[in-house]
Order: sequence, then C-alpha cells, then structure tokens
Amino acid sequence: VAQLWRPIALAGVVAALVFSAAMRGGDDPADAQLAVGPTAESTAEPTVERVAISRGSGKAFVPVSGAGPRPPAGTVASPPAPAVDDIGTRRLTGYVRLNVALTFDDGPHPEYTPAVLAILREHGVTATFCVVGAQVQSYPDLVREIAADGHALCNHTVTHDTKLPNKDEATIAAELADTHEAIVAAAPGTEVHYFRAPGGNFAGNVNAVAEAHGLTPLGWSLDTEDWRKPGADTIRDRVIGGIHPGAIVLIHDGGGDRSASVAALPAIVTTLLDEGYRFVVPSR
Ligand SMILES: [Zn+2]
Repeated sequence: VAQLWRPIALAGVVAALVFSAAMRGGDDPADAQLAVGPTAESTAEPTVERVAISRGSGKAFVPVSGAGPRPPAGTVASPPAPAVDDIGTRRLTGYVRLNVALTFDDGPHPEYTPAVLAILREHGVTATFCVVGAQVQSYPDLVREIAADGHALCNHTVTHDTKLPNKDEATIAAELADTHEAIVAAAPGTEVHYFRAPGGNFAGNVNAVAEAHGLTPLGWSLDTEDWRKPGADTIRDRVIGGIHPGAIVLIHDGGGDRSASVAALPAIVTTLLDEGYRFVVPSR
C-alpha cells in the first residue's frame, strides 16, 4: 500500500504546485506588482511604465486660467488627455496603471502641514508639496521635515502673485530663484524639479522661465477646489469620485483654514490604497 501511495501523493503535490503557480500567474493584474509604500522618485521609475509624452502636441487638457472655464471640481476633461499640455504644463503623472500624485499647495503651514505629514507617514504615502517662498522662510523646519520624509518639493514662487504671466522675465525669474534659495537654505541638498504657477496661471512666458531653471511646470487633472471650503466630505468625494490613473490631485495644506482638507485626507488615502492606487511623484 505504501508503494502505491507514494506516487499518488507525489502527483498530488506536483498538481498542487502547478495549480498554485497557475493561480499566481493568472491572478496577476499588473497593478498588483506595484508595491504600495514610500515612493521616492528613483524607485518609482523602474517599476512604473512611462507614458509617451505628447509635449508640444495636442490640445490643452485644462484651459490655462483666463482662457476659459475649468472643468467642474472633481471631474476631468474628456480623455484622451495629453500628459503634458501644449504649453508644457504637466497634467498627468506620466505613469500608467493605478497611480496618483497628491499635490499640496501654499504651505508650509505650522498647523496643517504637520498634520498632513503625519497622515502620509502613517500610510507610507509620498506626495508633492508646492511651497510658497515666504512660507518657507517663516517655517524652514517644516520644509526640512517634508524633504526628510521623502516628499517632492515644488516651487510655488515667493509672493504667490496670480498675475505672474503679466510680469517681466526678470521678475518671474526672481520669484523662482528666491523660492529655490529659501528651500535649499531650509533643507540643504534638496532637489526641486517642479514649478506650479500661482492660481494655476500657467502661461508660455512663465513656463519658459521655469524650464530655463530646470523646473517642470506642474499642473493637475483633479481639482478638489478645497479652497472654497466645501467641507471634508465633499473634498473626499471629489477625489474618490474623480480619480483616474495618472491623476494629479490639487489640494491645499496652506493659504487659509485647511482643517477640512486635512480631515478628508485619511479617507482619501485609505480608499485609494484599497482601490489599488499607488502614490507617486509626477514624472518630469
Ligand atoms: Zn497656490
């Protein structure tokens, strides 16, 4: 009997191994390979495929401010949207599959930025902070903390002048240079690769100066419009309802009372993680 059982048992083991291997192989949506966790840019690139960048071609995804109405909050313009619009503003992360970039504007703020950092830290999530130079000068420790946690920094100018496109080149350049100086003074060695126009007022002249400084103009595809103070539930629903692969989400940690934005953040992060989204820093 023992002689008979051995091959049968062996066949059973082999069948089980083949079956489990088949299950692993078959149950392999590519997204499952995308580990969730802190995603420094250097580690994000090998594991997430790049999307072809249509720089300089196609129509603007979101109209530049003043050029027309924006899409309603929490929605996106009809696809296909170029990852980079016709004036060089990045509108999508540049990565395929389930990925999203959270971008926090107008900080650092002594109350809300630490709260945001704590939530991101708790969930092992990386984001991008578009900091205002004047705030950086006031709260350098917070900039150091943002950088130490592995988040990306984005130059949001010194004075947050929403009429920046009307200014001459030297003024625009000074806005960027002074902010950069404040960031590296606060957190020496920090690399800054992004620029966000105050008020989202990207324009050809502004983007040209940013690019001359080695900065990628960083727009968004999903606007929470949290600055209108719609309440935490609405902010949460706008992100969860409007999310799409490669979304760049605009939310604020500074510039006013952002308690609702902070309150919405845990549900935003946990829901997107549950849906399989990976949090990335946008491509450059
Ligand atoms: Zn801003």
